[in-house]
Amino acid sequence: MIDLEVTPWREAAACVQVTHEVSFFPESDDLAGISRAKAVCATCPVAAECLTWAIESNQTEGIWGGHTPKERRTIRRRWLEEVKKAS
Ligand code: SF4
Repeated sequence: MIDLEVTPWREAAACVQVTHEVSFFPESDDLAGISRAKAVCATCPVAAECLTWAIESNQTEGIWGGHTPKERRTIRRRWLEEVKKAS
């Protein structure tokens, strides 16, 4: 469960409006399920905030900010490199 005090952007999330027919935790080989979740994320006004949160908190499961875990691993690796360079 996401803490809304920590993630206030969640109140505006598109995924809170969708039915349970769309899972944001599809299996990695469920390409149709992944596409459905990504389609919702594509309409989400807080997708950038969601992705940032998922990268920084190292969410390893589910679709966040329109990205799969594999896609986020690449983004997180680059982000960690930037953090390292800046310190
Ligand atoms: S980007 Fe996707 S997972 Fe994140 S809040 Fe928006 S709809 Fe939900």
